[in-house]
Amino acid sequence: MYKELGIDENIINLFEESEKELESIFNEVDKTCDINSLKVLKAFQDNKISDAHFGSTTGYGYGDIGRDTIEKVFANILGAESALVRSQFISGTHALTVCLFGLLRPNDELLSITGTPYDTLHEVIGIKENASSLKSFGIKYSEIDLVNDDFDYEKIKEYLINNKVKLIEIQRSKGYSTRKSITLDKVRKVIEEIRLVDKDVLIMIDNCYCEFVEVDTPLKYGADIIVGSLIKNLGGGIAPNGAYIAGKTNLVDLCAERLTVPGEGAEVGPTLGINKSILQGLFFAPSVVASALKTAILTSKVIEKLGYVASPKFNEKRADIVQNICFSNSEDLIKYCQGIQMGSPIDSYAIPTPWDMPGYTDQVIMAAGAFTQGSSIELSCDGPIREPFIAYQQGGLTYQYGKLGVMKAVQNLINNK
Ligand SMILES: *Cc1c(COP(=O)(O)O)cnc(C)c1O
Repeated sequence: MYKELGIDENIINLFEESEKELESIFNEVDKTCDINSLKVLKAFQDNKISDAHFGSTTGYGYGDIGRDTIEKVFANILGAESALVRSQFISGTHALTVCLFGLLRPNDELLSITGTPYDTLHEVIGIKENASSLKSFGIKYSEIDLVNDDFDYEKIKEYLINNKVKLIEIQRSKGYSTRKSITLDKVRKVIEEIRLVDKDVLIMIDNCYCEFVEVDTPLKYGADIIVGSLIKNLGGGIAPNGAYIAGKTNLVDLCAERLTVPGEGAEVGPTLGINKSILQGLFFAPSVVASALKTAILTSKVIEKLGYVASPKFNEKRADIVQNICFSNSEDLIKYCQGIQMGSPIDSYAIPTPWDMPGYTDQVIMAAGAFTQGSSIELSCDGPIREPFIAYQQGGLTYQYGKLGVMKAVQNLINNK
């Protein structure tokens, strides 16, 4: 059967052997999945989800009980006072943008304490010139780099003592970088340190790719507001688009007023028939995230056996679903990504090539044979064509399809040798 997919005996053996060595690590992933599933089920029951919530509104979308209850379910699961869960967010970046524009005012200062943020935020902040950036509205920006993959605690505290910062951004997932992603332990520690010197600064977390990887959420440790995409973890591969913002009610309300209209906020926003998909996606999300994690762990193990450097290592504690593979040359990176595409259910015949994507500085190659355009909870692999030529792989709706995709990618990489 594998031969029909063009996968050789030696690849099958390599994967089977690796899988056996990962049993106990996979068990840990399943335990987290158990608890997160329990949380989801409890939130559905506590909010009395029923058929009525699958209904749809059009136009202004007043009185959409499905939408309003979905937001309560998300808030419960994320440990938030309130949540805004909307398909009017066109991406995670859009939700982050709404959050920043919603909370910051002219002359306020935004401080990133995880170094330079994700590529698509550069024009939002004004790190790269844009006439509509936060900077163009007089919002100041500064950043403090991580040191040895951890926060620069002393520098952060000193900065906060000497400057009036309105909002701190913490980006947990690594984006296109080689740093480690930020575990909840580190989030907790840095928030404790920040609160020693500044009780008021707002702490916003870019939580993309991190939901359900661990049991707790950053809100439990004192973050004020968190943001993520529904075509990543919490959408479970079913939500057709959208994103969420969750946290303190007064802050979420400010974001709602920015997303829609001052004076209307979260009261408007038609759901156009997606309520059931959002709920069903959330219901699947714990096990989809577990499948994505197992796919990442298997990839790390296999790729290391082949002599490449993987980060995180197969047995390292994970904060997100992203797996870095360091290829050191563009050709291997491109072949691997093309192999992921070949192993996909959609557009498997297409061959991705590097291109100038809007929002990104370098050329980027993106493999995504996904049901939902741009969905990266589905198996996907991408990377900017710049040194050290790293593939960023994430997703896998089921472990079995994730494994097959990675097998095909490894085969394509080896065929090229
Ligand atoms: C995916 C991601 C985003 C948002 O990306 P979109 O493609 O706009 O949804 C933001 N920050 C990080 C760290 C991400 O991984």
